[in-house]
Amino acid sequence: MSTIWQSLASMAAAGAMLLSGAMETAAPHNADGELLLVNREWRISERYVPEVRVTNIPGQLRKLQPEAAAALEEMTAACKEEVGAQLMSVSGYRSYDRQERVYNNKLKNVKGDEEQADEYVARPGASEHQTGLSIDIGQKNSKANALGESFARTKGGQWVAENGWRFGFIIRYQEGWEEVTGYEWEPWHIRYVGKENAARLHDSPMPLEEYIMLIRTERLMSLLEGGL
Ligand SMILES: [Zn+2]
Repeated sequence: MSTIWQSLASMAAAGAMLLSGAMETAAPHNADGELLLVNREWRISERYVPEVRVTNIPGQLRKLQPEAAAALEEMTAACKEEVGAQLMSVSGYRSYDRQERVYNNKLKNVKGDEEQADEYVARPGASEHQTGLSIDIGQKNSKANALGESFARTKGGQWVAENGWRFGFIIRYQEGWEEVTGYEWEPWHIRYVGKENAARLHDSPMPLEEYIMLIRTERLMSLLEGGL
């Protein structure tokens, strides 16, 4: 009798430890790397400063984390080769301070109306551009406006929507996802998540927020299965 109770008690203790370990893993800001989540609710600290390098493609503000930069170079070359469109950078990595300046400028333009400013510009710490994994792109020599929906109708924009996943990129803000992502459709804003994640998201499209929850649930389940 006592041995049953003892083993039940130790199983419960092991379960509790596993669970707290798993919850630790599941806490949003402990997962970083390719799946680092940043949005209006989950802001990152001003101390988060990734390693970045200038991406070798045309355009301005071309800094990204090294792995994302290499993937973007590969993607840009493939786009040119496959459909003859030259992609370019409009805006990649932005530091916390830079985002703060961008936000404050916008705030000035709208005479201090925060609600209106928030509609256009993320607050410092709330922009995915601070991760060094996101970049706004355009097509060189096209009539489409930079950072406009018309980018989706260019050859390059269409190609990226269909093929970005092959290089580890997703279109982060898609139509119909506004409630979850907090952003309207932005066909020009791409986010590096790595090839494996991008392939899964290509097969089952969903907002990154939901995908991260799915991944964490999977991890939790495998921890529990492996441990008990
Ligand atoms: Zn963007």
